[in-house]
Formats: sequence, structure tokens, C-alpha cells
Amino acid sequence: MSFNRPDQLRKLNETFDICIIGGGATGAGVALDATLRGYKVLLIEKGDFACQTSSKSTKLVHGGVRYLEQAVKKLDWHQFKMVYKALHERKILLKNAPHLAHPLGLLTPCYTRWERLYYRIGMWLYDKISGSTNLKSSRGLSKKEIQAEFPSIESHHLRGGVLYYDGQLNDARYALAILKEAERLGACILNYASLDSFELGAKSLKIKKVVFSDLLSKEIYTITVKAVVNATGPFTDKIRALANPRMKPRMKVSRGAHVVLPAEFWQGETALLIPKTDDGRVIFVIPWRDYVLVGTTDDPDTLSESPVILEAEKAYLISYFNRYSSKKATLEDISATFVGQRPLLQAQLDSTLNTDTKSLVRDHEVEVDGRSKLVSIMGGKWTTYRVMASDTLDVLEKEVLNVPVKPCLTKDHILAPASPVALPATVEPDIRAHLSEIYGPAAGEVYGYGADRILANQPFLVGELTYLKEHEMAVTWEDVLARRWGIAIRDEALAEKLKAIKKEAFAS
Ligand SMILES: Cc1cc2nc3c(=O)[nH]c(=O)nc-3n(C[C@H](O)[C@H](O)[C@H](O)COP(=O)(O)OP(=O)(O)OC[C@H]3O[C@@H](n4cnc5c(N)ncnc54)[C@H](O)[C@@H]3O)c2cc1C
Repeated sequence: MSFNRPDQLRKLNETFDICIIGGGATGAGVALDATLRGYKVLLIEKGDFACQTSSKSTKLVHGGVRYLEQAVKKLDWHQFKMVYKALHERKILLKNAPHLAHPLGLLTPCYTRWERLYYRIGMWLYDKISGSTNLKSSRGLSKKEIQAEFPSIESHHLRGGVLYYDGQLNDARYALAILKEAERLGACILNYASLDSFELGAKSLKIKKVVFSDLLSKEIYTITVKAVVNATGPFTDKIRALANPRMKPRMKVSRGAHVVLPAEFWQGETALLIPKTDDGRVIFVIPWRDYVLVGTTDDPDTLSESPVILEAEKAYLISYFNRYSSKKATLEDISATFVGQRPLLQAQLDSTLNTDTKSLVRDHEVEVDGRSKLVSIMGGKWTTYRVMASDTLDVLEKEVLNVPVKPCLTKDHILAPASPVALPATVEPDIRAHLSEIYGPAAGEVYGYGADRILANQPFLVGELTYLKEHEMAVTWEDVLARRWGIAIRDEALAEKLKAIKKEAFAS
């Protein structure tokens, strides 16, 4: 069976042990973990895989310097443990898909002696908490060293800085890699399949069947399942209400906007952490595959399937970029924008509380509804997707399936095809870089589908379009441009050009 819709639909004539709703980072993680534990798994995703929050993150694999600062300032042990957990997950995430995640240096500029000392101690603590999983030790830098090593930074008034390390990931492709691996091991994984309702047992009111629509064929499926995991991120409350209308909302949505600039605005491979904006936020400037990503914001929002950036958000991010960059940008220089909605979890069950989303802890919680037995995995972040999955299945086995908890096997599970195919030595360097970064060990296999470029001087190949349809379940041009290649969220104009040339290859 291949990772395409016809093959996955053929697997649907079965009953399943576990149905997972949502194909973002969280659902993908649960699908792989459950499959490795030996369960028969079905995952349905309403849109394309990772089409919501999981492709719109800042793409950092991190413990969270800001969360550590909050933990120390508030003496918050819970928050501290969360940073610890994420820092230890960081290395596992990098190890399991090295073509999709790598270490990233981040520089924090300091403007007073006190700031230098403060951030030096903070980053030292960040290293210490990472322990043996630290990626590389942080170090203090003088103004002269920064001027020599990081010419892109505006050095006016600068007193020095601290360089530390986290990870950077290709979020959309990482989710896809997890899902492809789950499918290869036996799971049925389907995009454009939306959960409509549940069928409950007559007496127990426990979920017995899931009813979902294939949004492409319009066919409706009713599938018998033993357990259901709700991994719908910001949409969690909607699914909870379908299972049991009495459940009170738990999610608080916060929007995070990013702008992208061409690479000429930021030299080198080191990112910048702006540790404190006037309104108490953290903003990152991150080199990102020939572009530079600036973000993000953190404001309460209403739930939306397609959040769009506001002009004020663009102006805000560009104004902070210009404060810290020696090369100044204007709004016209922006090559792309994207906005994600954080699925934040309210500690209190009162939706009027905690309106300041910046103060909400990024931890996760597994909830089992006592009546329907719906298991909802809520909150969390990309970096901890694997722990979130493991916690979810432990609870599900204990409280829904009533079986002994099986070991989680994802920690050392490499996300790569079983038989890698190397690229021929003659492949041009830009195509080699593109295919290797996107497909990793499968680069040679993809190249085998045809080496013609779609557009001169661009590494995207005509043959990739067939591969994406047959082996990566791409259905629309947006699936290809925004998530399989990610070019639409780096350079909207280039994405449109590619689409115009090969319009007939996918639906719009
Ligand atoms: C701006 C921003 C920046 C971030 N930066 C980072 C970062 O740098 N590092 C980090 O670790 N974390 C980061 N995060 C957090 C991280 O991105 C999220 O925690 C994570 O992506 C959430 O994944 P998810 O799978 O829970 O949700 P989602 O990715 O939103 O997935 C839920 C899925 O459920 C699907 N769905 C909804 N309803 C249905 C239905 N009825 N039937 C079937 N499917 C349905 C949706 O289509 C969606 O694809 C960031 C978040 C934001 C918003």
C-alpha cells in the first residue's frame, strides 16, 4: 500500500482499535505510537495533514527560554518541569529525522551590563537543565565579536550578547514523515476526511462508531472503533461537544503572526532572539531556507480555519526587525506571511478567565470523558508531540481499553524510508539541496520521477508532482506549495508562478 488516497480508502473495510481525529503534530504522534504498540489505527484529517497550527509554528524545537524565565521568576515548579521535558525531547526530535530538524544558534543581544549577566546566567541554566542532551554550550560575546561574526545585527548601543542553541524543524514535513511511517507500519491515514458525529452505545453512551465524510467523494463512512482520540488542537472543544454536549470548553485560542523576508535582509545562519518587546513578548528573527522568518505575536483570538495576518501585525513585526537589523525592511519587502492559532489549555474551566494568553502555560493534558470515553489530548507544543502521544496512549490503555500499558517505542524510531535511495552524483547542487532537505533518504527515489525543472533557476521538479500525489497524498496545489514544499509560506509570488506553469497537475 502507498501513501495515497485510493490505497488508504481500500483499508477502510475494517474495524479499528483506535480512531484518531486530527492530522497535525499531535494526531500524527499518537498514530505512530499506537501503531508501534500493535493497535489497528485509523487517522482522519479534515483538511490536509498539518494544515492548521502544525505548519504555522515558528519552527523551533525548544524548551522555551521565556518559559524558563517565567518558571524562575514565579518559582513555578510545574513550568520548570515542562521546560525540562521539552529540552530533553529536543534532541530526540533532531535525532529521529535529521533531514527535517537541525541545531540552530540564537543570539540574544544585550544593551546593559546587567542584561549580559542576566542572560548569561539564564542560558547557562538552560544548558544545565538540558544536561547530556544539550545541543551545544551557550557562550557570552563582546560587542566586537558580535560585529565581526554577525554583521546583520544593528550594533548601535550594543554591550554584548549571549549565543545559545535550540533546534529548527520543517514542521509540516515532520508531521508528514511521522504519518508516513505510521502508515508504512499498518495504519490507515486519510486526509480530507472530516469527523461528523459519533454513534454511542444505547446504555453506556460510550462511543462505538465514528461517522465521517470523505470531503472529496462526499461519501459517508461509519466505522466501528474501540477508542477515539481527539487530537484536533484549537478545534478540540468542538469534538468534545459532539461526544458529550455537557462538557465545558477548555481551549483558549491565541494567534501568532509571522512575516517572511528574502535572505538578503539577514546574513549567516544564526538567529536572533529579541528577548523583550515593549509589550513583554519574545520575537525571533530566524534564517530559514534562503529567507528570514520574523515572529511571532501572541494575542487572544477567535477560532478560525484560515486566520490572516493584520496590517498592524505586519507593521509591528517589521518595526521590531528594523530595530535590531542593520539592513532595514519595508512592508513591501515581505515575501510571505502566515498566522497560526495556539491550542492553549485553560487551567480554569471558566472561559472568561485567563484572557492574557501569554501567561498560559504551554503544557498538555489528557482528558477522558467519563461518559463517552472520548480521549482528548489538549495543549502542548510541537517539541513535545512525542511525549504527548505517549501520555495519551498510556491513559487510553488504562482507562478506555482497560489493558496493561504497553511500552512506548517512538523514542528511537527513525522516521526514514526502509530502503533509502541516494541521488546520482551528477545532480545539480540546488536540486540536490532541495531534494535532500525535503525528502532526506528518499531524495533519490523522488529524482527518479523526472529531473526537468518546472521553472528555470528553481529546484522544483516536474517529476516531484507525480511523487507527491502517489506517495505523499497531496490533493491540491496548496498541499504542495504550503506544506510539501513550504514555498507558499516563504515566497507567495514564486509559489503562484510555479502553480501557473503546471496548473493542471492539482486542484486549486
Ligand atoms: C504561532 C505559533 C508558533 C508556534 N511555535 C512553536 C515552536 O516554535 N515550537 C513548538 O514546539 N511549538 C510551537 N507552537 C505550538 C505548536 O505549533 C502546536 O502546539 C502544535 O502544532 C499543535 O498541533 P496539533 O496537532 O495539536 O494541532 P493542529 O496542527 O491544529 O492539528 C489539529 C488538526 O485537527 C483537524 N481537525 C479539526 N476538526 C476536525 C474534524 N472534525 N475531523 C478531522 N480533523 C479535524 C484540523 O484540520 C487540524 O489539522 C506554535 C504555535 C503557534 C500558533
